[in-house]
Formats: sequence, structure tokens, C-alpha cells
Amino acid sequence: MKRDLGDLALFGGHASFIQQIHVGRPNGIDRARLFDRLSWALDNQWLTNNGPLAREFEERVADLAGVRNCVAICNATSALQLLVHAAELTGEVIMPSLTFAATAHAVRWLGMEPVFCDIDPGTGCLDPEKVAAAITPRTSAIFGVHLWGRPCDVDALEKVAADTSVRLFFDAAHAIGCTSQGRPVGGFGEAEVFSFHATKVVNAFEGGAVVTDNDDLAHHIRSLANFGFGLKSANDAGGTNAKMSEASAAMGLTSLDAFDDVVRQNRSNYEQYRAELSGLPGVSVIDFDHEELNNYQYVIIEVDEEITGLPRDLLLALLRAENVVAQRYFSPPCHRMEPYRSRQDAHLPHTEELSARVLALPTGSTISREDIRRVCNIVRLAASRGSELTARWEQSRSGDQGLVSSG
Ligand SMILES: *Cc1c(COP(=O)(O)O)cnc(C)c1O
Repeated sequence: MKRDLGDLALFGGHASFIQQIHVGRPNGIDRARLFDRLSWALDNQWLTNNGPLAREFEERVADLAGVRNCVAICNATSALQLLVHAAELTGEVIMPSLTFAATAHAVRWLGMEPVFCDIDPGTGCLDPEKVAAAITPRTSAIFGVHLWGRPCDVDALEKVAADTSVRLFFDAAHAIGCTSQGRPVGGFGEAEVFSFHATKVVNAFEGGAVVTDNDDLAHHIRSLANFGFGLKSANDAGGTNAKMSEASAAMGLTSLDAFDDVVRQNRSNYEQYRAELSGLPGVSVIDFDHEELNNYQYVIIEVDEEITGLPRDLLLALLRAENVVAQRYFSPPCHRMEPYRSRQDAHLPHTEELSARVLALPTGSTISREDIRRVCNIVRLAASRGSELTARWEQSRSGDQGLVSSG
């Protein structure tokens, strides 16, 4: 364990980890089961095109989400695009800026304008009152994001949508297996989208799905993802190919088999982080509602620079020097990135404040209790002596610059 600032790798100490530890490293998988499923697909010579493994995967995801329809797609970004297309959205789509770029890009790709709306600083999700105020005659839909697996205020958003005749959808990429008031994520709004990217809690190498109780919408999306074959109505765009392969479904099913164990491990990791960082001024681990189910796939800390004297980005740099590859999920927020930054002048104070404070720390089934102890040791040392550390860092950098300029 490190005791002094000089022990930190940033100041020349040994790195805490010889090998990098990552946020979103794929969770452990039962290879024998995966290989059995792959062999079975090869034996059957059915590798894609709505095969038996993809159908089984869809049934299990629909079950978990408590909805009638699941359409498995090659990734969540394509699933979002297909949903936007099938729903025939136009004009403006209201969404949070504090999300992965794919939420905005999917809408933009289809020629619509993402309109970024501020969040409730307590949850990181869309503030329903601000959403109501952002609706214009051009608004066709609201896209909520269940950030880090904490569901949006779905009741309030459903009310705003109903009152204004605007449609409501959710990017649920973080939230499989989570509930809001006991109801599983998947059944809110008209449809929700899951991601099964390798870094997510359920992993299909690459994968996504649209889940919905709207049978026509599901049929429409399934057809569009398969070259438009079987569409009930004429469709100017033809169709595309965004199907999930049997290899991805084999991985997705095997990952779902492990889901309960992975969630148990994530929860235990999360509780350890909370215990080890408790009472550290200016650093908090974001909380989840323990009355609800959550997948605990993200451990997010908020770093208050005014209290710690330590800028979030300096903590990130010093963790990375220790081979702890923490991530700024999500910073900068979408409205600060192109192509959005130069197109609109969004005023989102809560988004900017939260975005400047957050850091995701490594968790998942490949992290040990000892790993977490060491990560917390670094965070504690750095945050408890933040001002001193920052001054020392600035001094060492001006020293470097001195050397460079004199050489
Ligand atoms: C991961 C993620 C996506 C994109 O998922 P892919 O399957 O990689 O396309 C979309 N939205 C959010 C919020 C995400 O975290």
C-alpha cells in the first residue's frame, strides 16, 4: 500500500499494478458452454438469418425485460437507428447530453436534430420539467437514457409525453436487469434499446436489441434489419442488414447464463468501493436505490475539486500512471462535442457540473478484492492530500518545461 505522495507512480514510484486494469473488461465466460453452442451452430450449418440461437436469445431478453417482443440487432447503435427510422421520427429529438455519443449520433445519422436537455443532478438522467420546457412544434420524440443503470423518472416522462403527444423511447444500454418501482427496464415508453457490446454487463461480442410491447413496431424493425423483407407497408428506404449472427447469440446466451453471478460480483465490488472510500471528504460513490434491482455494472465516483483540491483529470492521470485505466463516463458531454458543439448553444449547467466530476472505476467479474483495495488506497491518498499533490504536480511540470526550454 502507498503511504506518501512520493510512492505514486506519477512522481516516480512503482505502479500499483503490473498489468493494466480496465473499466468494461469483458466478464468471465464459461468457454465450454460457448464452444458447445458454437459447435451446435456449425453442426446445424445455420449461422445467421434469425437462427435458433438468436431466437432463444430474444426470448430470454424479452423475459428479463418483461415485454412481448425483442428484436436482436448487430449492435445497439444500429438498433437505435432502426428504431428512429421505423418510428418515422422527424425534426427534433430531446435527449440528455450526458450519454455515450451513439445516442445522439443515431438520431443525427437519420437527419434529425438531437436537442440536448439538462439533467436532474441527483440521478444524472433527464429532468422531466426541463424536457417539457424544451418541447417545440418540431419535437417528435424524447429519448431518455438510464444513465449508469439508474432508471429515468419514467412516470414523469411518460406524463410529459402523453400531455404533449410526443413519443417516448429509452436508450437502456446500461440498464438490463434494472427496475424502476419494481418494473423491469425494457417496458417503458414505446420501446427501449439494450447494448450487448463486449464492455457491457451482458456481452454478445457486439450486439443490441430493441424491446417493445408494440408488435407492429417490432415487426417493422425486424423487417428493416433484414433488407426490408416482409414489410407490411411501403418503405422508401428499402432496408438494411443489421441482424445478429448465431455466433453473437451464442455468446449472448452464455453471458446471460452468468448474469446473476456477474451482478452478485458487481454488487459486492460496488459495496467494497463504498466501504473503502467512505468518509473521504470530496469523494462519493454514486448510490443506487437498494429497493430496486440493479446490475451494478458501473462504479462511478464524483470528485469535488473544491473540497479535495484535486482536479478530476489529475486523479485520472495519476490512476492511469498506476495502470488503473479509469474512464470519464461521460466527459465531455455530447453538446461539447462535434458535430453538436458548433450547431447549438445549449445551456446545461447540471450536465456540465456532473460531467466534470465523474470517473468510472474498474469493476466486473475479473477484478479481485485486493485490486479494489489498491485502487481505493490510491484514491484515498490522492484525495486526502489533493492540494499538496496538485501543487507538486504543477511544480514538477514547470520543472520539465524549464528543462525543455533551456535545452
Ligand atoms: C454502449 C452504448 C451505446 C452503443 O452500444 P453499441 O452496442 O456499442 O452500439 C449506446 N448508448 C449508450 C448509453 C451506451 O453506453
